[in-house]
Amino acid sequence: MVILRTSTLSNFDIVKIKPQNKKNCDPNNNTCLASVFPSLISLSEMAKTSKYVKKSHYNYYVNKYGMAFLWNTASDACLLLNEDEDACFNNLSISLINSDFLNSLFSLGFLVEVDFDEVFRINLLRKRHAYTYPSDGHVDIEILPTQTCNARCFYCFEQKYNCLTMDKATISRTVEYICSRINSSQDVCFIWFGGEPLLGEKIIDKILEQINLFYGGQLSYCSSITTNNSLLTRGLVNKFLGLWKVNDVLTTIDGYREEHNLRKAYVGKKFDAYNLTLENLNMLSETGIKTTCRINLDKDNISQLDKILTDLLPLLSHPNFAVQVSTLRDKTSSKTDLSKYFSVEEYDSFYREVMPLLYEMGFIRNALEQLPTRNNINCIACSMNKIVINSNGKLFKCLQDSLSDDNSVGDCQNGISTNNNYAKWYKEIDNIGDKCEQCIFLPCCQGGCKYYRMNPSLDTTPCFRKKYYIDYIIEQIIKQFSKERK
Ligand code: SF4
Ligand code: SF4
Repeated sequence: MVILRTSTLSNFDIVKIKPQNKKNCDPNNNTCLASVFPSLISLSEMAKTSKYVKKSHYNYYVNKYGMAFLWNTASDACLLLNEDEDACFNNLSISLINSDFLNSLFSLGFLVEVDFDEVFRINLLRKRHAYTYPSDGHVDIEILPTQTCNARCFYCFEQKYNCLTMDKATISRTVEYICSRINSSQDVCFIWFGGEPLLGEKIIDKILEQINLFYGGQLSYCSSITTNNSLLTRGLVNKFLGLWKVNDVLTTIDGYREEHNLRKAYVGKKFDAYNLTLENLNMLSETGIKTTCRINLDKDNISQLDKILTDLLPLLSHPNFAVQVSTLRDKTSSKTDLSKYFSVEEYDSFYREVMPLLYEMGFIRNALEQLPTRNNINCIACSMNKIVINSNGKLFKCLQDSLSDDNSVGDCQNGISTNNNYAKWYKEIDNIGDKCEQCIFLPCCQGGCKYYRMNPSLDTTPCFRKKYYIDYIIEQIIKQFSKERK
């Protein structure tokens, strides 16, 4: 047995252990496999349970290229089995733990006691995180300083709302709200979104300067920002590293050069937006800030992916640079022509086309790191410590829901109201439905996006994306480790 990733669940404490305690096995590191075995030997010293055990509902098993791969979506553990272990595992039904092998499977979460209710435990984790504040006091505040944008992407859900920008009074109310709710021992992540948040540069400056003034510079905070990056300058990057404390930037590319320029349709003077995006991605990557380029694809631009990736290849020298590929969705309410978008039914074939390209060109650096982990934490909508503030100073539980003030859960003047708009999200957390309760991916996905669950359409799904290419990831992990073994 080779343990590629160990369990993060314990029988005594179901709190997820932070990633630094997880040891991923690096196929390029020869000492890694050897170091696994002593820990296994010591398992035989552990008290063996006298209870009967059964296979976990969350075991994900793949046998490929003569190797058996086993992953438990609840415990995070994954391993490779030799032939004998594979046969033993497959023939296993309800059993007493009577060998070191079974003891190892039990301690890694692949076997559970027969009366153990695994779905209850995952539901408990999700609800506990939904209804309590994290013990470290961390808060995520997503702010839309402006809902105006200098681009006119045809798919953008904010098109209709692009005249809103925070005025002076709203800036003050936003700062007062934050300062009255957060104490200096907490840490805050400000998530800047828009419109184009860089159009609201001065607003972001004012908010952060006033917050710093209030806390005497003692509040620990960072920022993450979603930007089309067309307005980026050296001066702004210095601001990212200074006052804004940006540690995460997300930028999108909407096609190869002409297509991207056409789709972004920037207002004002003509310029090669595609080229500028590449240059600015490079400028950002050089700073060490985590820089992600998401490539939005539909049926009209998917054939351009290899050309875009070729242009992004030089950025791979920066370990903080990453590429995400996603299906474009029609986020406007028009839904006039959905045929150009990939429907949920086409996600499998979409990822079958794009994943090999990403992998072969080196954009997936380590397949094992792509394997999902258990996710106890809910999205903004179903977490007590996360909130969205729009340009009107209204509060929301979900960005997608933030376009109409009718959906608000309060405002910066009066704070949060646990009104119907608030409660609707928690109803989704409490009742995820039979399909999700049975789903092997529930620990990783926790019932997925609640907004898409409430607003179904052909091109959206609540399900987490990796579900559609999980077998490809596992295949690459097996290949990686089988190479190492030879
Ligand atoms: S409900 Fe969906 S869109 Fe809204 S915050 Fe959660 S994951 Fe995001
Ligand atoms: S949303 Fe989809 S992937 Fe997530 S638990 Fe439910 S069925 Fe599974």
